[in-house]
Amino acid sequence: MSEKDYIQDTDTSAQGSSEKKDDDGFEKVCYMCRRPESKAGPMISMPGGMNLCHSCMQKAFDSVTQNGIDLSKLPNMPYMNMNFSDMNMAPPAMEIPKKQKIKKKTEPQPALTMKDIPAPHVIKGKLDEYVIGQEKAKKVISVAVYNHYKRAFLGKEGAGDREVTVEKSNILMIGPTGSGKTYLVKTLARLLDVPLAIADATSLTEAGYIGDDIESVVSKLLSAADNDVERAEKGIIFIDEIDKIAKKKQVSTRDVSGESVQQELLKLLEGSTVEVPVGSNQKNAMTPMATVNTDNILFICGGAFPDLEDIIKERLMKKSSMGFGSVLKDTYNNDPDILNKVTNEDLRTFGMIPEFLGRLPITVTLQGLTEEMMVRILKEPKNAITRQYEKLLAMDEVKLVFEDDALNWIAQEALKRGTGARALRAILEEFMLDIMYEIPKDPNIGSVVVTRPYLEKSGGPLVQMRG
Ligand code: ADP
Repeated sequence: MSEKDYIQDTDTSAQGSSEKKDDDGFEKVCYMCRRPESKAGPMISMPGGMNLCHSCMQKAFDSVTQNGIDLSKLPNMPYMNMNFSDMNMAPPAMEIPKKQKIKKKTEPQPALTMKDIPAPHVIKGKLDEYVIGQEKAKKVISVAVYNHYKRAFLGKEGAGDREVTVEKSNILMIGPTGSGKTYLVKTLARLLDVPLAIADATSLTEAGYIGDDIESVVSKLLSAADNDVERAEKGIIFIDEIDKIAKKKQVSTRDVSGESVQQELLKLLEGSTVEVPVGSNQKNAMTPMATVNTDNILFICGGAFPDLEDIIKERLMKKSSMGFGSVLKDTYNNDPDILNKVTNEDLRTFGMIPEFLGRLPITVTLQGLTEEMMVRILKEPKNAITRQYEKLLAMDEVKLVFEDDALNWIAQEALKRGTGARALRAILEEFMLDIMYEIPKDPNIGSVVVTRPYLEKSGGPLVQMRG
């Protein structure tokens, strides 16, 4: 929902002699602190459609009187609700925004309950339908997510033993570019039907610097939850490129984007209450605010962590006995799953601060994609890209077939680009353009086979006519 939906220009009613009561479905918002009536309590109506909450009014009085006037001792304050326009008084010189109101929620979505959270094997089974390979990561995430929501509901339903507090299980996800980190999180949020916000750590800066401040991620989640605070509080926030906020090795100037951003993220990760603008990620005088508790929000931080493999290898080499150095080096160099051996020590060497790592107790690693995985990604997931093209041509009653050898060629080309599975779509799109353009021209075409020679530009696709 956009900011526009909240700010209603009720010009005509503001001109009238008496204001409509609250039954217009909107809440009043304090002109000073931007809190809605449901948060700040009853408002004092001022001329020009301006409303003030009692505490802001109190502050205003305190600042102009030495001892202050206690407004609570003036419960009715009749003069405050007078309509000055009726008295032919000039409107205040400053520009006062017309009524800014927060729309009251009409149909709240049913709250998430533990029954909505599938068991880990069900979560994993669903993930399998979309995400190829990455078996360990899918298993760890399924269990972590299940436990996370158990913890969230334990607190709420008071079903837990007070002695045992289950700690928050935020996740650190390490894997090369295009290996499916974002895709995994997106699939997870979709199948759990919880709101998801994806933010880029590189755009986050310490408060006061140019860029998005840390709380903007919560603001994004709130809008993903259609501004339903309760739903947002059970959502998922994925912070990508987390490796980019590693502590720099040598810093001569103040480190704005690295260590200090990690520091600022700490309180969000462990759970705190933040005031975020509703319907916008920019705080300004016009935006109403909402309070969101991040305690039950699942944070997943992901990154490619380049050079981390070297750090792991170095540590493993150091630990091993002397004399076998070169043999071991080869073993580690050929280990495709070296990332799986990562420890907190390696991540600290990389530049992540210990407190930050402490708030991400679960580490999952994703493997770099192999040619075989790439081929499977092309054809196996429920929404596989080849299936999408098949479906599109089926609407023209044309059967589309991809030769296995053609898929291998695409996978090999994608590997060369080094951007993981992301390259698959780009390559396939390039070749499918002509087919998608030419085939519908001739209604007699019954089937098309995408062959390797067509991709290698030494031949064309095999086209068969109907009948
Ligand atoms: P990153 O690890 O850089 O976040 P993404 O998750 O954005 O990578 O992957 C890019 C795209 O590649 C996804 O949208 C998805 O279509 C595809 N993809 C990547 N890895 C997998 C996988 N393991 N299984 C299925 N599709 C994948």
